[in-house]
Amino acid sequence: MRNLDNSFDPTWAHNNIGQFFSITYGFQFAYVLDAANAPIYAMHDGQDEAPSSFENIRALTSKLVKNVRSREAAKSSTFIPAAVASNLQTRVQETVAARIGDRFFYVTASLVQPDFGTARIAGAAAPILITGHELDADFVKNFATRYMLNGAHVHKFDAKNEPGEAHIVIHDGADRAIATLGWSPQKPGEELLDKIFPWAVLAFSIALGGGLLLYVRARDSQNTLGETERRAIFAASHDKLTQLHNRAHLELSLARLTDRGQQTGSRFVVYAIDLDRFTNLNEVYGFEAGNELLKEMAKRISSLCSADDICVRHGGDSFVVSRPFKGHRQVIDFADRLSDAIRQPVALRIGVRSVDVSIGIAVSEVGGSDPLEYLRRAELALNQAKRDGRGRSYVFDEKIDEELRRRDLLVEALRADIADGRLTMVYQPQVDRADKITGVEALARWNHRWLGPISPAEFIPLAESAGLIGNLGRLIYERALRDARRWPDIEIALNVSAIEIRSPGFAERFISLVRDYDVDPSRVEIEITEGALLNQNRVTIETLHELRNAGLRIALDDFGTGYSSLNYLRQLPVDKLKIDRSFVVGMNTNKGGEALVGAIVGLARALELSVIAEGVETEEERSQLLKLGCYNFQGYLTGRPVSADEISKCLAKRAETGSFRQLGQQSS
Ligand code: C2E
Ligand code: CA
Ligand code: CA
Repeated sequence: MRNLDNSFDPTWAHNNIGQFFSITYGFQFAYVLDAANAPIYAMHDGQDEAPSSFENIRALTSKLVKNVRSREAAKSSTFIPAAVASNLQTRVQETVAARIGDRFFYVTASLVQPDFGTARIAGAAAPILITGHELDADFVKNFATRYMLNGAHVHKFDAKNEPGEAHIVIHDGADRAIATLGWSPQKPGEELLDKIFPWAVLAFSIALGGGLLLYVRARDSQNTLGETERRAIFAASHDKLTQLHNRAHLELSLARLTDRGQQTGSRFVVYAIDLDRFTNLNEVYGFEAGNELLKEMAKRISSLCSADDICVRHGGDSFVVSRPFKGHRQVIDFADRLSDAIRQPVALRIGVRSVDVSIGIAVSEVGGSDPLEYLRRAELALNQAKRDGRGRSYVFDEKIDEELRRRDLLVEALRADIADGRLTMVYQPQVDRADKITGVEALARWNHRWLGPISPAEFIPLAESAGLIGNLGRLIYERALRDARRWPDIEIALNVSAIEIRSPGFAERFISLVRDYDVDPSRVEIEITEGALLNQNRVTIETLHELRNAGLRIALDDFGTGYSSLNYLRQLPVDKLKIDRSFVVGMNTNKGGEALVGAIVGLARALELSVIAEGVETEEERSQLLKLGCYNFQGYLTGRPVSADEISKCLAKRAETGSFRQLGQQSS
């Protein structure tokens, strides 16, 4: 917004206002007024004009400008910290219908709002942008198609007298009738649509699009309507085929929800639902079959909706549901129920069929001001779901302050997947200098149905902080110990989180698990990070002793990244140091990096600990490490983490050929 501020740049205005509004949104005119409401830029029918041409519409817009200015004054009297400003930023905008010469326009005055934090407008008043959109034939045609109005057209003035036609009279700012939108109703009584005029104005303004959304609160007219009127309203707000609400109704409802949200802080969820491969069915069996299916799906979807929910047929084979937000758990549950219901086979006249479904989900933000934003987000998530192979549900995920929300969502998703055992294990080989596999490290993998694969570097800390690590750990150990039985000749290393190692009774539980699975304890190594040993927690030290007394071994993971003193290390019941990957990389990139690794190896030797380097990716690193006296490796060079089956295969192959270097080079 800098360019509209203190120093005005006409070229910029031409490109960004004139061209933008005329080409992108089809506005016929645009003016920019400066802080003193003097015109500084004018565009008319796509051409720049002398700003003085604003005088033609000054009278017409004076009330709009005045209203916008007074709202601006009210707004700037409150201090808004930059961090929350972007959330609170609401549109300061007024719209009016107007007749200019022979043409009809929707004229809108919008405050050009500073993008807080980057370019704060100096002085009290911001520029005002005035735009005009003509209600011309094109506009009416688009509008009519969208809202299914037959043969829509615009009359001048109040021409509400053509027989058999339905009308909406459009008033200007002074409440004079300036135009009439007419169309041929398909149902008797539909002409009474003008009873819900505000509703239609809303629809109109939404059709104006481009973020210049005007919101007219719908009058609560329903109570005073008769039966025919009710039917007319039903027809205008419902989809004929499925009897669900239609798009126009959705847009109105979202506007209401947004308004309520701004007043009460309530939030809502939008689900964009799309049947996968529906067009196939239509093409192969014809529209009859398609319609039959759509009706059934509509029934299933709406049967899951309660009175507070909005359930809409949004287009061909897409539906939208919006419902109050009651927590992330419910958001996920509902999406699950939707897709379960839709996936059930359907008995059609052509036989039993089933369809898959993709769902995009968006949750509104506190104070959100744009009703269509969340529909847009849900559709973005839907597109992503379809791109990733359909049959999925995705939650819209915005990097910025979405983080917290994502966290809640992840916790709930993780909780559910741990309960259902939906995590898997991979194993990464640890090899000696002769390339022989001496052991594997068990690494957990979580591939969530909609969220996709999530790194253990993310979900392990999440599980720790959400109190899920106990259950998660147990699941992992059971899986790994079960798999370990297949490889009696090698060791298995298990990562144990700092939280777990500190929890009383861990050693006992773990040892009995190892017994239950009948794995020789001397084959089991526990990896704990150096950080877990910080503070010299008494429980931790005792736990380590217990584990060791039971025959298990302890490795210090990520060694070198913590702060263990030599003296401290000497007292700890530890068997092995794992040199962190950062040191391996550092051998060649950091000055003294090689010496540092040499020192760690020396330390291990002095304390009579074994040592392994992790994250070894190149031959060069491997030979450097060999030179420094480190003879054990783990890394992409000698094997990526792979499935248990791959490990078995590889061990078998190794027994035959003595080589395994190609292991898992394609996957991780
Ligand atoms: P970590 O224990 O240090 O595990 C080694 C990580 O380095 C693994 O990442 C592994 O895939 C990756 N890696 C192995 N070789 C190479 C290499 O040559 N180059 C590079 N760039 N990376 C390599 P992963 O599986 O994503 O695990 C990340 C961390 O998550 C682990 O670090 C560990 O702290 C934690 N984690 C993973 N699985 C478990 C588990 O089952 N339980 C617990 N408590 N933590 C786990
Ligand atoms: Ca590890
Ligand atoms: Ca590590």
